[in-house]
Amino acid sequence: MLASLKNRGSPLAEPGEQLRVLGATPEIVAFEDQMRHFGLDPLHAAGISVLQINVGKLCNQTCRHCHVDAGPDRREVMNRETAALCIRALARSNIPTVDITGGAPELNPNFRWLVQQAVALGRHVMDRCNLSVLLLPSQADLTEFLARHQVEVVASLPYYRAAQTDAQRGDGVFEKSISALRRLNELGYGREGSHLILNLVYNPGGAFLPPPQAALEAQFRRALERQYGIVFNHLYTITNMPISRFLEFLLVSGNYQGYMERLANAFNPAAAAGVMCRYTLSVGWDGTLYDCDFNQMLGLPVQPGGPRHIRDFDVAILDRRRIVTCNHCYGCTAGAGSSCGGSVT
Ligand code: SF4
Ligand code: SF4
Repeated sequence: MLASLKNRGSPLAEPGEQLRVLGATPEIVAFEDQMRHFGLDPLHAAGISVLQINVGKLCNQTCRHCHVDAGPDRREVMNRETAALCIRALARSNIPTVDITGGAPELNPNFRWLVQQAVALGRHVMDRCNLSVLLLPSQADLTEFLARHQVEVVASLPYYRAAQTDAQRGDGVFEKSISALRRLNELGYGREGSHLILNLVYNPGGAFLPPPQAALEAQFRRALERQYGIVFNHLYTITNMPISRFLEFLLVSGNYQGYMERLANAFNPAAAAGVMCRYTLSVGWDGTLYDCDFNQMLGLPVQPGGPRHIRDFDVAILDRRRIVTCNHCYGCTAGAGSSCGGSVT
């Protein structure tokens, strides 16, 4: 398993260095030029229906492909003041969905407060959960908390077999994930007729695009139900973005050029027209605003000239903002497209 980029002193720990690598890929058409060719540049937001709050990089896992470079040693954690600014922004808008991510967002001391406040405002709340966090002794009542607040759980499970999941997420993670999924099912998550939504997230184990979402969902459903009695609502397939630890993996394994070409050659204008940044606003742990979680990890805030911190939130300006793009955006527009809600088309 790769350790944290920051701990290892890798030059790729710096977002600027990642952008330099992404920008220097002469074999592929620059993303902006590709978008222009299809009449899609400049790309603009078309409203905000999701406020995605990244509460920090602290995590109990250190997955190989993590685009956040999260881990137990990370200290970037959203404080109460910034969390309160997120709630104030919500209260001043009609944004219907709050998507809380990390790291393992549940480890942030303000996570439960954030959920309670957003629910009190009548918003739908999603928790991007790594599953193993639900088994931590310090989180013994977390599953019940999520159920009580009808929080949608979006859970990472790279595969329905232990070998592939553990290779990506660490030894023993698959077994823990199965235990956590059973606990969620026991409370009603993922069950027919229940209001408790449990969605799973698949991402490829290497430098290839995800298979078609519907077919893989059927495969997961069969395997998980038959072998473990586990049920869920939907499976989202997500393309690995060429940033952070996955970028390092691509470079170290000699797959970088081939992967970028694969993404660029699979450019799909229909997916490009529906990328998630067009309806999402992303907030970083320190309150900085981004077009998406990936731009956040590359240190690319929303364009200058408008609000760039949650304290200055102004929905009228932000919901028409121009999106900041670069070559990593090919990860969202290849094939069926990729977003936090799975394939786009
Ligand atoms: S669980 Fe998620 S946030 Fe944590 S290291 Fe793995 S991919 Fe990153
Ligand atoms: S990486 Fe972010 S900005 Fe680029 S297309 Fe994807 S969601 Fe939009």
